[in-house]
Amino acid sequence: MQALITTPGRPGSTRVADVPAPERREGVRIRTLEVGVCGTDREIDAGEFGSAPPGETDLILGHELLGEVAEDGDGFSRGDLVTATVRRSCEHCAACEEGAPDACDTGDYTERGITSLPGFASELVVEDAANVVAIPPAIGRLGVLAEPASICARGIRHATAIGGRQPWQPTRALVIGAGAIGMLATYMLRLAGHDVWTAARSAPGSEKGRLVSASGARYVSTEATPLADVREEVGGFDIIVEAAGSSDLMLETVRLLRRNGVACLLGLDAHPHPISIDGTALGVNFVIENRVVFGSVNAHRTDWTAAVSSLEAMRERWPEAMEQLVGLRVEPDRFSEAFGYRGVKATLQFA
Ligand code: BGC
Repeated sequence: MQALITTPGRPGSTRVADVPAPERREGVRIRTLEVGVCGTDREIDAGEFGSAPPGETDLILGHELLGEVAEDGDGFSRGDLVTATVRRSCEHCAACEEGAPDACDTGDYTERGITSLPGFASELVVEDAANVVAIPPAIGRLGVLAEPASICARGIRHATAIGGRQPWQPTRALVIGAGAIGMLATYMLRLAGHDVWTAARSAPGSEKGRLVSASGARYVSTEATPLADVREEVGGFDIIVEAAGSSDLMLETVRLLRRNGVACLLGLDAHPHPISIDGTALGVNFVIENRVVFGSVNAHRTDWTAAVSSLEAMRERWPEAMEQLVGLRVEPDRFSEAFGYRGVKATLQFA
């Protein structure tokens, strides 16, 4: 079968190749329709991240799946639209044993298409029913956004739990970054009824700016308006989601929060450099105002279910904008265009 593979650690080794179909007989057999591409795939392609399955040199990429069940069985019927979770248990920690590998305590987890397990960017995928998530037909091709939406669902669920440790009524949210995670977090926070400001580098009239505004959120072009000015104007934020993957901006969230505010860091910044902040921002205001900054990775199965429901609600509320989130769909052999895409989301079409 055709697959998009890479040799982890070897930059630019990504290629389409003919690989053996999965041998296992048990599990749900899924015909891949589409696979989303994200920053993690770009890092693996750059040789900076990821690992091949034990004893192998190549890794099948892809962890954002939309597929169609190929045969009846395991509670699924042929033709059902599905996706699958990414992370698998380390099998020796309490979190994984409880079915929460997103909170794995050893770091020995594996992840499809990222760490030691073949990904979904191949014509056929076989997966345990427990890791398969149904996509309602109404969502259709938008189901390819379930994985990034699950990341947002987890981050917002945790932010809400942390804020809710004390009396808390959040109303103002800031999202930093307008890629798929930033855009979906924006829409999710709008669905929850928050006033949302979403900041990114693109110009105010840009495509990303328009897609942010379509949800009723306010778009802030950081080229024109520094975030500190926005904080000054609105009085700080109850919830912040950092999805730009900039450690400078992550640190800046300390100052952008208001009293009792919670900032959730979802982006990754692997570029080593010192970052600094005035000591009193952390040493006084942060403490005096009960502020929290935390990181969140991956997603629990419950976040996937919540993500799928949110996608359904977003599609009902902002149908036109939602259809524009995937701005580039190409065949697998045009993967470099997908990797280079700077819009919200690019996907590889397998069928
Ligand atoms: C994926 C997560 C994964 C993380 C770290 C992200 O791109 O969305 O599922 O846990 O990378 O590997």
